[in-house]
Amino acid sequence: MQVTRIRSSAAAAAAATAVAAIGLFLTACSTSAEDRPLVIVSTNILGDVVEELVGDEAEVVTLMKPNADPHSFEISAQEAARLRSADLIVSNGLGLEEGLQQHLDEASAEKVPTFVAGDAIDVLDYSEGDAKGNPDSHFWTDPARMITVVDALEPILAELDGVDSAAVTEHTTQYRMQLQSLDAEMTDIFVAIPEQRRALVTNHHVFGYLADRFDFRVVGAVIPGGTTLAAPSASDLADLVDAVEKTGVPAIFAESSSPDRLVQALASEADIRVDVVELFTESLTAPDGGAPDYLTMMRTNTERISDGLTN
Ligand SMILES: [Zn+2]
Repeated sequence: MQVTRIRSSAAAAAAATAVAAIGLFLTACSTSAEDRPLVIVSTNILGDVVEELVGDEAEVVTLMKPNADPHSFEISAQEAARLRSADLIVSNGLGLEEGLQQHLDEASAEKVPTFVAGDAIDVLDYSEGDAKGNPDSHFWTDPARMITVVDALEPILAELDGVDSAAVTEHTTQYRMQLQSLDAEMTDIFVAIPEQRRALVTNHHVFGYLADRFDFRVVGAVIPGGTTLAAPSASDLADLVDAVEKTGVPAIFAESSSPDRLVQALASEADIRVDVVELFTESLTAPDGGAPDYLTMMRTNTERISDGLTN
């Protein structure tokens, strides 16, 4: 009996040791996961880019869901609270994140380090519409400006506590080369479009930077100003019909992140033959949605613009 009892307590002790060891193991695992810095990114386009730059070196949380509108998306109370514990917040800036700005301002006031992409680039102002003279926030339509943002972001990510800076540099070097390839491809494809057809008629002022970089004219936009929150007037529509007729563009472009009803209405109202081509403008999609990452989104748009304007 006594022997058994001793054996039994020895077994219990062994079991307890095993449990303690597992406990230690789990603690060690979760501690190392928590050791990675937390980078919270506002838009899903920038979220994709930041993930490419950091690899596994940091935990990247992207607030904007796929197929969302960067101007109006909002976050939960938990996400807002988590913003304050971030090691770095990356945002687009230039007034893009209207639904998030209050939380970004609060985190910044609490000294959470922030990187604002718009601060890194040569900013363009809107050239027409109600927002004329205000900064255009849609810089990502120009891959060269995205490279500028990557260049500015690299040292900040590499210096985060807990990351292997050499790994960040390696990831960034690889991704920069992919952005440079994208830029070269877009240049080749757009240069081949006859100059008089290099005109973009869209329902939202998204392509100012692309136009600046690749020598397009932005002819008109159904929705005035830089935000999808603005509503068009009958005279805006009439102006656009006029613009389409004068330029004779064979295609106008609707964005996938907002309803294209207005552009469809325009196409049927105007006594003109014009294709309405859908583009991915300011949100990535889910993995199977056609624009799961920035590079794919840009390549798809480039192909559709080229096809639309050269048909
Ligand atoms: Zn926009």
